[in-house]
Amino acid sequence: MTIFSKIVSGEIPCNKVLENSDFLAFHDINPKAPVHILIIPKKEYQCFQEVDPKIMVGLTEFTHQVAKLLGLDESGYRLITNNGSDGGQEVLHLHFHLLGGAKLSWDHL
Ligand code: C5P
Repeated sequence: MTIFSKIVSGEIPCNKVLENSDFLAFHDINPKAPVHILIIPKKEYQCFQEVDPKIMVGLTEFTHQVAKLLGLDESGYRLITNNGSDGGQEVLHLHFHLLGGAKLSWDHL
């Protein structure tokens, strides 16, 4: 079980932003921007190539809701996923980083 599955189950606490039956958004514990949210499917997909493409519609809608809730839909934001070893993925539970609240440069991270 990944640390993110433990967050989903409530075993490990998180600073939650939004949740529905399939997805959870919470503040990253080590923020790299003024706003740094992690958006995860509750189901444990190890990486992007394992994800069921059908969930991406729901994930897109959920991400729109999170951005709107945080007031980022006008100012914009960055959405990234670190995928696999070369992608710098540390937690092997698919997640998207939503970063904003400042003008981000390409070498911001
Ligand atoms: O994409 P990557 O796997 O490298 O990112 C994992 C992210 O999960 C990190 O930004 C880290 O700060 C975050 N994290 C967290 N809460 C935890 C463990 C990791 O927000 N309990």
